[in-house]
Amino acid sequence: MEKTVQLYEGKAKKVYATAEEGLCIVAYKDDATAFNGLKKGTIAGKGVINNRMTNIMMRLLEKNGVPTHFVRELSERETLVRRVKIVPLEVIVRNVSAGSFSKRYGVEEGIVFASPTVEFSYKNDELGDPLLNTSHALALGLATEKEIETIKALALKINGLMKEFWLRHGIELVDFKLEFGRLADGSIVLADEISPDTCRLWDVNTHEKLDKDRFRRDLGGVENAYGEVMRRLMEDAAL
Ligand code: UDP
Repeated sequence: MEKTVQLYEGKAKKVYATAEEGLCIVAYKDDATAFNGLKKGTIAGKGVINNRMTNIMMRLLEKNGVPTHFVRELSERETLVRRVKIVPLEVIVRNVSAGSFSKRYGVEEGIVFASPTVEFSYKNDELGDPLLNTSHALALGLATEKEIETIKALALKINGLMKEFWLRHGIELVDFKLEFGRLADGSIVLADEISPDTCRLWDVNTHEKLDKDRFRRDLGGVENAYGEVMRRLMEDAAL
């Protein structure tokens, strides 16, 4: 499958059309941004790792009944996906306090929750992705009640599957962000990426951060952290 025109360029990915209307190609870049684009940089090799990890996660989820946009990996950095209209909600699932949760509620990082939390942000860079609840999303017409129910249920199912996967590789899945899309027939599928850019991943024993917080917070060892995630992913011969 060949790329035709570029449809979109985001902070970390480009999306191209293909000759087939319902399919497009995602190309992962090494560019990294944080704080709504205020901090910019590159993480060498990130595009390759994010492409690989996303596709491994998508296959794991598909195998367990979660519908996704994934079709097939084309190369180190490129993947064929089904074309969707993105639901403008960032869906965040948390197992452990960190990041904006800790800041917002004034608690330390690392508190393990009895049950996971699900929250939504309005995907809107100009507004800084403000937090919103279901009734706000409905009032703004961002999704229907049924879609929101589907999205919440899928997000929790995805959390269970990914948490268990990462634990087998000595990593605690602290939190992550998902985006969902609508296919031409209106059905909801998981879209976008699942990578160390969009998940907080901590080593189970040392609690070392193996994700984009190393970039956001200038902790150093960014490439090594992404490389370590890749190494653990590849431990699974079945992948
Ligand atoms: N996240 C993301 N994109 C965003 C905001 C958050 O991928 O625009 C991910 C982030 O990497 C983390 C989780 O969602 O794994 C929760 O992020 P949080 O709300 O704590 O925000 P942050 O502290 O990253 O600003």
